[in-house]
Amino acid sequence: MAQNLKDKEAYQRLNYLYQAAHCVLSENPENVELARFYCFTQKTIARRLVLRQDPSVKRTLCKKCCSLLIPGVTATTRQRRKKRKTRFTVVRCLSCGQSKALLNNPDYCLWADRPEAQLAQQKQPGDKPLNNTAPQLLRGWSPGPSSIQPQGGPDGPRETGLQQ
Ligand SMILES: [Zn+2]
Repeated sequence: MAQNLKDKEAYQRLNYLYQAAHCVLSENPENVELARFYCFTQKTIARRLVLRQDPSVKRTLCKKCCSLLIPGVTATTRQRRKKRKTRFTVVRCLSCGQSKALLNNPDYCLWADRPEAQLAQQKQPGDKPLNNTAPQLLRGWSPGPSSIQPQGGPDGPRETGLQQ
């Protein structure tokens, strides 16, 4: 994340909130609401500042109610199969019932990690919208035009508050 140094503080805050959610849940599994508040704050910050979070983080957050998905505590995991071959791990949120299916493929490579993605970014910086290249990665992610402040700019004011 060397190129995102200007958002270092925001990423540190996201990291803190994510760890805090894990911490309160591990201390007491009844702290679902508090963990949800932390994750909701984390999601709001990422949306307002248009920060990309790692897929490993996003896979543990419920899209619907922002719960932290811990298998056996706040979520259930089941194996599902489609057309005999493809297997999925279905993670279901115990709070709201929303489920997400993750493909069981240890060799799966994210688009951002592929060499051709790196080449494309070097050739055309800022010219290649990620939405066209990795729809499955960015599903549920929206740039949220209302959250981008017109007076901001790349080095504009960084709002860390939650004025909504
Ligand atoms: Zn949920």
